[in-house]
This record gives sequence, C-alpha cells and structure tokens, in this order.
Amino acid sequence: MNQQIFQTPIAYLKGVGASRADVLQKELGISNFADLLRHFPFRYIDRTRFYKVKELNPDLPNVQLIVRLRSKEILGEKHTKRLVAQVYDDTGVMELAWFQGVRWVEKILIPGKAYIIFGKPGSFNGKTQMAHPEIERYSPEALKERGNMTLQPAYSSTEKLKAFQLDSKGIQHLVANLLEQCAKDIQENLPETLLKQFKLMGRKEAYWNIHFPADAATLAAATNRLKFEELFFIQFKLLKNKALRTLKFKGNVFGSVGEYFNTFYRDKLPFALTNAQKRVLKEIRQDTQRGVQMNRLLQGDVGSGKTVVALMSMLLAIDNGFQTCIMAPTEILATQHYASIKSLIDDDFLEVALLTGSTSAKARRVLHQKLESGELKILIGTHALIEDKVQFKNLGFVVIDEQHRFGVEQRARLWRKNAVPPHVLVMTATPIPRTLAMTLYGDLDISIIDELPAGRKPIETLHYYETQRLRMFGFMKEEIAKGRQIYVVYPLIKESETLDLKNLTDGIEVMAREFPLPQYRICIVHGKMKAAEKQMEMERFVSGHAHIMVATTVIEVGVNVPNASVMIIENAERFGLSQLHQLRGRVGRGAEQSYCILMSSHKLSHDGKIRLDTMVKTNNGFEISEIDLQLRGPGNIEGTQQSGVLDLKLANLATDQQLLMICRKCVEDIFAEDPRLELPQHAILNQATQLPDGGLSWDKIS
Ligand code: ADP
Ligand code: MG
Repeated sequence: MNQQIFQTPIAYLKGVGASRADVLQKELGISNFADLLRHFPFRYIDRTRFYKVKELNPDLPNVQLIVRLRSKEILGEKHTKRLVAQVYDDTGVMELAWFQGVRWVEKILIPGKAYIIFGKPGSFNGKTQMAHPEIERYSPEALKERGNMTLQPAYSSTEKLKAFQLDSKGIQHLVANLLEQCAKDIQENLPETLLKQFKLMGRKEAYWNIHFPADAATLAAATNRLKFEELFFIQFKLLKNKALRTLKFKGNVFGSVGEYFNTFYRDKLPFALTNAQKRVLKEIRQDTQRGVQMNRLLQGDVGSGKTVVALMSMLLAIDNGFQTCIMAPTEILATQHYASIKSLIDDDFLEVALLTGSTSAKARRVLHQKLESGELKILIGTHALIEDKVQFKNLGFVVIDEQHRFGVEQRARLWRKNAVPPHVLVMTATPIPRTLAMTLYGDLDISIIDELPAGRKPIETLHYYETQRLRMFGFMKEEIAKGRQIYVVYPLIKESETLDLKNLTDGIEVMAREFPLPQYRICIVHGKMKAAEKQMEMERFVSGHAHIMVATTVIEVGVNVPNASVMIIENAERFGLSQLHQLRGRVGRGAEQSYCILMSSHKLSHDGKIRLDTMVKTNNGFEISEIDLQLRGPGNIEGTQQSGVLDLKLANLATDQQLLMICRKCVEDIFAEDPRLELPQHAILNQATQLPDGGLSWDKIS
C-alpha cells in the first residue's frame, strides 16, 4: 500500500507533463494526484436512454430525445433576435430556442428531418422548451456508432485549459489514467461498523463510481459515501479538538453562588427571567463546576435577553474571585453592551469599564493598572482587549459577542491571558441554522434561548406594494399622532451606490413633502455622512425630537430607541432575509405594539417573494435563518464567508442536513465511548486524518 503516491506532482501522471501541469495548477488548483482525484464531475450526461417529449419536466437534468422538425422561425431583431423551432415526437410537441448562433443553427435545421437533441428541459409560457440544445442529425447508423453510452462525467474546465486539450473530455482521460494507476492504493478510512450500519460503499469503489458511474443508482451510492466521509471528518476533527481540550485544559471551578449574584438577582434584576434564560444559566453553572474549561455558544433571537444571562454568568465568576470581560466586534456594539450592562448595575455595586480604540492613553493607563491589580472586575471592549498590553490579574470568564467576526486565533489569545484558560461564552447576534452552527461552532456546546420575555407583543409585519404608499403615509401619521417614532430605511449597496443614493435623496424629498415642518421633524442618517454630523442626527432621534429617521442600513446595529415602533423598509425585496430580520429587530423594544412595513415594487423575483412572505409569516429568527440557508446556500450566510469549513466539495449544508445529523451523532458516540481513541476499531480514524489523501484540507478547519 503506497499512500505517498497521492502526493505525486500532477506532472508525473501519464498524459500530463510540465506545461499541462502548470495550467492545471493555475486554473483549477490541481497540483498533485489527490487533487485530481477530488476534482469531481459537476454533472453527468445521461446518454443511457432517450426521453419522450411528454416525459419532460424542468426538474430533469440534461436529457436526449429524438424529434422531428415541424417549423422554424427567426423572431426579434438585433439584441432580441432568436431562433424558435417547433419539434415533435409521437407523444407531443415542444419548442427549441437559440439566442446565439442563430444563423448557423438556422442553416442546419430542415423541416421534416429527424434530430437527436440534448439539453436541459425547461418551460416557457407553460410550454415545454429547451434552450440551446446540442443537436445532430438522426440516423440509425449514427446511433450505432455511438455504442454503449452511459452516464458521462462532465468536468469543469476553462478556456486556457481547453487550449491544452483539457476540456471536459481531456480531463476525463486524465482521471481515467489516474484511477487505472492508483485506484488500488485508495484506502478505506471509515470503521467497518459504520460502513455496515449505514450501508456505505467502500472508498475505492466510491472514487471509481463518482467519476465513472456504472448507472444512476451506483452514482448515488458513491456520492452518498463520499459526502458522508466529508461531513464525518469535519465533525471528527471538531470533536477531537474538543475532546483534547477537555483532557488537556483544566477549568476554573466556580464553586459557589455568592453575594454579587444573589444581590443582583434579589435586588437589581428588574424582571423575572424567562424559563429559557434560567435553563441556560443552569447549563453555564454546571459547566463551570466541572473543572473543565467551558466553551459554549449562546444563541438567541434579537431581544431574547442574552445580555442579562451573560452578566449573571459574569457575576458568578466574580463571586468566585475572578475578573470578566465582554469583547464585541465593533466600537458601536461594545459601547452598546457597556450601556446596557451599566443600566443593570450601578457603580456602587460594581465598576464597569469600557476599552476601545478611542479610549485615551491616560484612561488606558488607569485601566491597565486596575486590571493588573484585580480591582476592576468587568471590562467591556473591542479587540483592543486582546492586545498584549492588557493584562488581567485573574481572568476567569470571557464573553465574546458575534464571534464569527473574530477568528479562532483571537479566541485563543484570550484564553492565554490566564494560566488556567477562562471559560468562554460566545454569543451570536442573530440565530444561525442548526447545521451551520454545528459546523462553524461544532467544537462548542450550544445553548439556545428560544423564548422571548413575557408580555412582549410580537411585531406585526405587513407587505405593501408601491401602489399602497398613500396608505402607508396615513398609517405613519396615525402612529406619530400617538407619540411614536418611525424608521424609514433605504438600501445602499456598493454595486449600485449612485443609484441608491439617488433613491435615498428622492425618498427624503418625498418624505419632506408629505411630512412638512413645523408639524413633523425628520432626521437623516447614512454612511456617507461625517461621523459628527451622523451623531447629531442620531441624537435628534434618540432624544425624541425627530419623528422620523430616514436612514440606510447603518442603523442595522447600534440604535436602541424603545419609543420607535414602526420600521419601514423601502425596496425591501433587495435586502437579504437576515438583514430584514435585523432591521425589524430595531422596533418592538418598548411596551407598544410595533409594526414593520415592507415596501416593494410589483416586480418581485421568486426568491424576493419568498423572503417577504417569510417576514410577514414569522418573527422567529431560527426559522428565518433556515429559510435563508435554503435560498442562498451556506456560503452566503452572513459571517460564514471566510470560513474554510464551508468549502465542501460534495456535501451541502442546506440540502444534506440529515446526513450531517447522522455524522455528528456517529462522531459524538465515538468520543463518548472512547475520548482518547484508544479502541482498536478507532485506530483507522486516527490513521485517516494523517493520510495524504485524507479527503480534506485539515488546515482549514479550526
Ligand atoms: P439580546 O438577546 O438581543 O441581546 P437583550 O439582552 O439586549 O437582548 O435584551 C433585550 C431587552 O429585553 C433588554 O431591554 C432587556 O433588559 C430585556 N429583557 C431581558 N430579559 C428579560 C426578561 N426576562 N423579562 C423582561 N425583559 C427582559
Ligand atoms: Mg444584545
């Protein structure tokens, strides 16, 4: 068995050589045998059978048919020029369309003749259609020549590669050479028991069949096996890290609940905790008594009350003689945390300090000193906190807000601030889907606050079309008459900035006309303003002086005005779901019934419609995040872009949720039974992660 073979530079593969190796590396990042082995086909061409017109539907992949030409017609002019042909077989009629190469195709189409067409079925105006099919004249002889066709792999390629005869076919040849030479060296990397339990195809067979499937069922089995492997080893790596950490690091023990916690709970807490908050506190309490470092993710919707849970956990730490800190990704958020913690406890009770980029050198010196002496117990700040100059006497508990904006490396730097690493509580600003959490934060334990404080009135969300604008103005006036304030938000997106700015200015003008002085006062806030000016305008709204704030998404985070009860989002169809949800979260903070009005044009894309319908239908951030994931795919969910964990080759966290759950459970069971991986049946897993063809880029996984 020769595992090193997969590390062989691709130049040494039969049929490659130096110059082809060079383009393969540059264009597709293929530099050795393993890379090519994992350059999977992006689709398969089903040449195994001929379909009938009646069977076609838009869910089918590329298919082939034998049809006869009835008529052809060139429609439109210049840019809209297209060729439309009617074809038929004994089951029905369909339409073919070409928007390019019109004249060339037109020449080869002869009414009355039969053709083999190959392409993706679609539908247009309720009729079956195929755009840009491959087409060739049909004859019984031509068919025989094609021989035994099966599922043909199609590989992604580029213009540059094609110049080296490395189109899809060319790459297919290389893969065939590779498999012939070293398929025998592909080693199994999953335990026998799992293969049996989940009826997984062997690894070698799976690699063969994903490239050259015998038939559709075998292809499905091969793909499933390799997806399983992909998801399994991500979880394996995450939970292995977790297990190692548990074995290696001791954790501070918060043995007792003391004065600070109890006094706060008895005298300061202005409301009763929700059951969800109590449950999470209990989880944290248990974690911090075990003598093992806690690493916990706290998820909860906007307004679910994460802050007070964080604070009470910190009080627990302080009761046991430790210092604590909260780290937020931006100065605005840090300042906001500072304000909300200060509103819960006063200086007589405990001193709270803020440290950001804008903290003066003089104030810093005082802070540093108080931290080193252990006098200061609660520090809130930005990444300024992790600078080496900031030294604690005994840091025991760290809260990280929105950690996906921090790297894992930064998390580690916080740990190192203490001999025994502090317990870590990570909070996300908005819920993320379960499968994403399991992958991005798979090495953390997860706590969820799935309940809003009692008495909170759910925000009512309405979707208005442009034609209902007058109704919207009427509604705004009613609310202002009741003493409420209103946000009006416009999109400002980099790619269309000039147009958006014009929209914003037009919008402001319309608003100013509809809500004239002196009866109404409007303030304006957008990212292009100077900081001081922005601050002043914000202040006018916060103080209640202005009735309406017209803004771009700068207000997404950082404004808290309980009296604002209406959020109007213009061009709502252009916002992503999580952004809409975030914006909506700006209202509903006071005692009054709050509203969110989504304004859109009548022209809505399919996804745009789903987004707005979802917003109207639910206030539940978890539900919304799941739909967002389905619509946009895991790579586009906010905050996940930089994460290499999501560079999956085969599996998809949106569509393979069930498989992920299964893999997670398998890995959990393995570590529960055998945390040090000492059992003989697990030896294969330890080896697997060291194989050069291990199937994963380990370095990308945190
Ligand atoms: P988030 O989870 O978005 O960070 P916060 O912690 O900022 O939510 O809480 C939102 C608001 O709800 C705050 O004003 C907070 O004081 C209040 N709050 C938190 N918990 C409760 C509760 N159990 N009952 C009533 N109000 C609560
Ligand atoms: Mg918060």
